[in-house]
Amino acid sequence: MDFSLTEEQKLLKEMVREFAEKEIAPYVDKWEEEHHFPREIFRKLGKLGLLGMTANPEYSGTKSDYLSFILVLEELSRVSASVALTVSVHSSLFIKALQEYGQEELKKKYLTAAARGEILGAFSLSEPGAGSDASNLQTKAYQKGDYYIINGIKSWVTTGSEAEAFILFAVTSAEKEKKKISAFLVDKKMPGIQILKLEKKMGFHSSPTAQIAFEDCPVPATNLIGEEGRGLAIALRLLDGSRIGIAAQAVGLAQQALELGIRYAKEREAFGQKIANFEAIQFMLADAATLIEASRLLTYQAALLVDYNLPYTKEASMAKLFASETANKVTYLALQIHGGYGYCREYPIERLFREARVTTIYEGTSEIQRIVIARQLLKEAEGQIC
Ligand SMILES: Cc1cc2nc3c(=O)[nH]c(=O)nc-3n(C[C@H](O)[C@H](O)[C@H](O)COP(=O)(O)OP(=O)(O)OC[C@H]3O[C@@H](n4cnc5c(N)ncnc54)[C@H](O)[C@@H]3O)c2cc1C
Repeated sequence: MDFSLTEEQKLLKEMVREFAEKEIAPYVDKWEEEHHFPREIFRKLGKLGLLGMTANPEYSGTKSDYLSFILVLEELSRVSASVALTVSVHSSLFIKALQEYGQEELKKKYLTAAARGEILGAFSLSEPGAGSDASNLQTKAYQKGDYYIINGIKSWVTTGSEAEAFILFAVTSAEKEKKKISAFLVDKKMPGIQILKLEKKMGFHSSPTAQIAFEDCPVPATNLIGEEGRGLAIALRLLDGSRIGIAAQAVGLAQQALELGIRYAKEREAFGQKIANFEAIQFMLADAATLIEASRLLTYQAALLVDYNLPYTKEASMAKLFASETANKVTYLALQIHGGYGYCREYPIERLFREARVTTIYEGTSEIQRIVIARQLLKEAEGQIC
């Protein structure tokens, strides 16, 4: 597999790095401290065409190759994992759902606006009692004339309080043995929607996570995404692709931690010399850099499989598993290099350490990734055993 980047990909990476350094880096700690959602940044990203990378040109998108999209997420995350998370959910879950499964009228109305960054989209699968086991979701949608009426509580909705629309999953038939889940586009302006609370999280304070109640919320039947009853399959398919984005996010975050660790090691002195001279510190840097490079290669490999139109479920889970566990290890090492200062808010490594923690949880925990990988391995081995 050829991992060398094209000239366009290199230029894109440089452009995003420059944008992130100039427009995001100076403010990222302030936004986190103030729990500020930087809407203005998403407007700018929209103008640069970076929110429409997964949408087709007829809907104002650029329909870029997946590796280019992944490079953008990695570069954004190298400066702000919160900003990268919003872009990831908006592009690889909301836009992709509409692009691949939405009806034409719906695409014209929402996809174009989303690709331009005029609206932001969220993805609402999880519920208080249904996370890893998404099939256990309880939100219901019953048909009444030209509408589906939605009732239930959704949790953990990234950008939920800010987004203009959601891709929401609800049970359309609860018959025993034949439970059917369907996907809908729900506009925030529809009646019966109430933000119940914003989660008080350990990190990612610039990325609001909402619990939302839907009470007799009427959604036009034309807002159905894909066929009725195909919702769970659609959700799992979308998550396969977006996991590569979370892997890229973890790579970018870990890269930033390594760079901070190197910088600090070259500045800090102990026992009359720079701590970078100590072999113990050098070994930490070497381990971190090696883990990051391996994560990056797994992530690019999964993205290239998407671009080559080849199966990528196993590789996407491997990338997400390895890169998110790496982000945790690398932020741990980089914080260790900072000594006591690393434990204080004054240094950004403290934030990165908290941010890395959730990457092994959302969009499928590490345990779920291992289940996906093992299932694929066993499937591949079918017929190979005598
Ligand atoms: C900051 C944040 C943002 C999020 N954003 C979104 C979003 O935008 N949209 C959305 O729909 N969801 C979102 N989520 C939800 C997220 O996807 C879930 O938290 C995740 O899937 C895990 O589900 P859970 O929290 O219910 O944990 P549980 O499923 O209850 O798992 C608890 C523990 O049990 C383990 N476990 C569960 N089942 C198995 C099994 N079969 N074998 C072995 N171990 C198992 C898990 O790995 C975990 O360690 C977000 C979560 C967070 C924290």
